[in-house]
Amino acid sequence: MKRSPITRSPMPPRKTPMAKKPARNSGERAKFRKGVRARSGGRCEYVWLDGSRCDCRAVVAHHIYPVGSHPHLVGCVDDGADLCEAHDDMAHKNDVKFTRERLLATMPPTQRERLESARRKGK
Ligand SMILES: [Zn+2]
Repeated sequence: MKRSPITRSPMPPRKTPMAKKPARNSGERAKFRKGVRARSGGRCEYVWLDGSRCDCRAVVAHHIYPVGSHPHLVGCVDDGADLCEAHDDMAHKNDVKFTRERLLATMPPTQRERLESARRKGK
């Protein structure tokens, strides 16, 4: 059987023009990353169950409360945890709830108080 040439499938006309993705406040994000990195010293801030801190190099300034649901915390350094690749994976894929609770439970109490206060302001 002869194969038919590849043809483009007809696309329905777009009803609305593609919306340009809004700039997600890059200044606030840069301030967030810098602040989190300054606090962590470049080392992952995850604390193991035995109380020791992860020894790995931090690669991602992670938002403990997701920016999607907490956009007002985008520049809030207290909402940040500098994480290594493995712990960032854990925070996003494997153990999202556990990791968030762990990060909240092991951060300094003053940071947690400021964070909870900032979080409430957005509601
Ligand atoms: Zn780590």
